[in-house]
Amino acid sequence: MTTEHFDVLIVGAGLSGIGAAYRLQTECPGKSYAILEGRADLGGTWDLFRYPGIRSDSDMFTLGYPFHPWKQAKAIADGPSILEYIRETADEYGIEKHIRYRHTVAKASWDSSESLWTVTSLVGTSLVGEGGTGAEGVDFTCRFLYMCSGYYSYDGGYKPEFPGRDRFPGPMIHPQEWPEDLDYSGKQVVVIGSGATAITLLPAMAERSAHVTMLQRSPTYIASLPAVDPIVRVLRKWLPEGLAHRVARWKSVILTLGFYQFCRRRPELAKRMLRSMTARQLPSEYDLDPNFSPNYNPWDQRMCLVPDGDLFKAIRDGRASIVTGQIDTFTENGIRLQSGRELPADIVITATGLQLVACGGLQLEVDGLAVRPGDTFVYRGFMLSDIPNFAMCVGYTNASWTLRADLTSQSVCRVLNHMDRNGQVQVVPRFGDKSIPQRPLLDLNSGYVRRSADLLPKQGDRPPWRLRQNYVLDYFSAKFGDVTENLEFPTPAAARHGDAPKLAEAGRSS
Ligand SMILES: Cc1cc2nc3c(=O)[nH]c(=O)nc-3n(C[C@H](O)[C@H](O)[C@H](O)COP(=O)(O)OP(=O)(O)OC[C@H]3O[C@@H](n4cnc5c(N)ncnc54)[C@H](O)[C@@H]3O)c2cc1C
Repeated sequence: MTTEHFDVLIVGAGLSGIGAAYRLQTECPGKSYAILEGRADLGGTWDLFRYPGIRSDSDMFTLGYPFHPWKQAKAIADGPSILEYIRETADEYGIEKHIRYRHTVAKASWDSSESLWTVTSLVGTSLVGEGGTGAEGVDFTCRFLYMCSGYYSYDGGYKPEFPGRDRFPGPMIHPQEWPEDLDYSGKQVVVIGSGATAITLLPAMAERSAHVTMLQRSPTYIASLPAVDPIVRVLRKWLPEGLAHRVARWKSVILTLGFYQFCRRRPELAKRMLRSMTARQLPSEYDLDPNFSPNYNPWDQRMCLVPDGDLFKAIRDGRASIVTGQIDTFTENGIRLQSGRELPADIVITATGLQLVACGGLQLEVDGLAVRPGDTFVYRGFMLSDIPNFAMCVGYTNASWTLRADLTSQSVCRVLNHMDRNGQVQVVPRFGDKSIPQRPLLDLNSGYVRRSADLLPKQGDRPPWRLRQNYVLDYFSAKFGDVTENLEFPTPAAARHGDAPKLAEAGRSS
């Protein structure tokens, strides 16, 4: 079987992979590329998650691409509309024909003498448990490998052990594996969790169920935003579509960043403000303690947004409630808390989170040696120390994912163009200064981040090894900064010794 070769292989056809393909074909038009996608369709997160009410919790002017305006009225959009938007982008820019579906990348080996990645994908398998039968290994080669594989495992969500689980006879469902035919009309539902998913499920399931209780161990900060942004409505009335989108995007960037900085610098004031905003959404007799008083500062964990206060409305209407407590045991009728309180349940939803995974879970090798992403340092938020011709795409924790994902793709294109201009074929960030303190990649203290900190690359405390959570600074550095700072551009050993690379022997070009 012949090995197909591409200049760049992108792994993953989610929001990031489609955006990366657009940047590559626009900014590096001569480069050949393919996207290897493990699932049978594009969209990633927005195709996988099918629970009731699934939606973004950041606005679509920043979660959408800067080059493809979000045209719908709602800024906080539902999952199917986001999926449709990604599909429409792939169609409009001719990206779909580059995607190889059902190609799960399992291994990538770098060979310095040939300046080449060999990428092994399992064909016919799906990342979402459709079974691995009939999988065969197919090799591709590429000059540059770009991981747009998201940040969590598609094999299943995080499912902690609960005492007495076997006593509970009803269905227990993780939102990542939502059964299409789940009928919860008239049922008592308990949702375990307090993150964005639980907060979305509560009002959505309350529409049909008898009652939904969100059982949280500890509360989260929740802010309400208008689903349709009134300023954007005015912008769209008076400005051309593209310009209105750009202004809406920058407005959202500046307000989100400003609010984040305010929370970090004045946490006590931010707490009081959020508390009073919450109190205004609830009946005057509602006691905010403990359900709405987190024991951490705003933005120590990701803040949750609800459109038009839908969660608070469901609580006001008596269709939903929140309980803070620890599970003692599951019972035949539901859940008993350590306080002795019983929560009746016909169905339990475990919105207990994701399992983080680095670089799509693939096995990485550099010149025959295994490399663990957890042992590397992240360079400018997108390359990994000592891994040549390799980049990964991760979003912001304090703003929309796509803001950084798109800057990352632009930076990758700048590095590739720099190498072409200078006749270079290898690029590698070197983390020379071992005295730089090591910090976790993600600056959140949420359980799912702490559980997986060891698997993820690390960051340092200074540029270019620090992962900034600041789009405005990153924007200028990605557009105008020096793309070569702290990068090495080695000469392939084989070329140095006058050997013709095997690539040339095989008649492949790049
Ligand atoms: C329920 C939910 C809601 C969210 N809401 C928001 C939000 O409102 N705002 C926000 O900024 N962020 C949000 N996020 C984060 C969200 O994941 C990102 O916004 C964005 O969708 C990530 O896009 P991505 O393409 O990088 O990753 P994904 O959407 O995860 O896509 C990754 C793709 O790579 C493929 N893949 C992975 N590993 C391999 C492999 N080894 N081989 C081949 N293919 C592989 C997967 O199949 C998938 O198609 C949310 C996440 C979840 C889970």
